[in-house]
Amino acid sequence: MISRRSVLTTTTLAGTALIAAPAILRGVSSPAMAKAPIVGTQGPSFYRYKLGEFEIIALHEGEFTRPLDASFVRNAPLEAVQKTLADAFLPTDKLTISFTAVLVNTGSKLVLIDTGFNDNGGPTNGRTVAAMKAAGIEPSMVDTVILSHFHGDHLQGLRNKAGEIVYPNAEIMVPEAEWAFWMDDARMAAAPDAMKGAFQGVRRVLAPSAKDVKQFKWGQEIVTGITTVDASGHTPGHTAFVIASGNAKMMYVADTTNTPVLFATNPEWKVMFDMDADKAVATRKRILDMAAADKIRLAFYHASFPATGFIAKEGAGYRFVPAQWS
Ligand SMILES: [Zn+2]
Repeated sequence: MISRRSVLTTTTLAGTALIAAPAILRGVSSPAMAKAPIVGTQGPSFYRYKLGEFEIIALHEGEFTRPLDASFVRNAPLEAVQKTLADAFLPTDKLTISFTAVLVNTGSKLVLIDTGFNDNGGPTNGRTVAAMKAAGIEPSMVDTVILSHFHGDHLQGLRNKAGEIVYPNAEIMVPEAEWAFWMDDARMAAAPDAMKGAFQGVRRVLAPSAKDVKQFKWGQEIVTGITTVDASGHTPGHTAFVIASGNAKMMYVADTTNTPVLFATNPEWKVMFDMDADKAVATRKRILDMAAADKIRLAFYHASFPATGFIAKEGAGYRFVPAQWS
């Protein structure tokens, strides 16, 4: 039997490894070199997938964890919500809501849909730019930023805390109905105090750029391959987007559901964030019915990363089927 040491000796004698030999011998005498620190966090996370000639890049903005209480779903008993979470192997005392923005590379344009918080949120979010950079794209390369609606988790990241636009070369496109609602001074004055902050947040981000912001209606192709769809209810101007390249088609549905674990499974449940909850339920069913019938791929802002997959009808609701990682 030839030992490792004798092999090394032979090599050394052959005169080819005289300098390396001492280091190699140290390696032999120390069998395990696998020690590494426990990190405990994720690095910047992105996921690319193909859509016809387009490339879609899911960008992990992060997440937010809140205690779960009876106020989260307005029209279901807390125990029913907890059972749905338990059935999905999730904690029942708190809820983690994920955020995933979508970057569409059409081959000639880079289009970001929704922006996350940037540095205006908390320690567990604000990572969209880092994810984008990890995917090889600088914010200055983004041609267009589209906002699905004006809730803070979708819009605040357009402008950092210092007040600078994060995507300096991008045109900004927003739903006309959303602009009309949130930029209405009389409506802000009449809003309950708890809601005034949301109005002020919208103005902080958009008012300095107001003259450059392009407003869109529903049913318009606003960028080649990206068409707006009325998904109102969650907010007055909440918009989904059909993204199409050749025969390939998908839909970014933003907050048509909050986490699909709860609201695809139970489409009639009314999350506390839906501003017109009845309309949001009707929109949810319309879009999820279409997705199930057409077998069209969806991207959700609040599904678990990379937040894309398909919808199957199941019982009185739907099942979200994550797309295979490839
Ligand atoms: Zn949202």
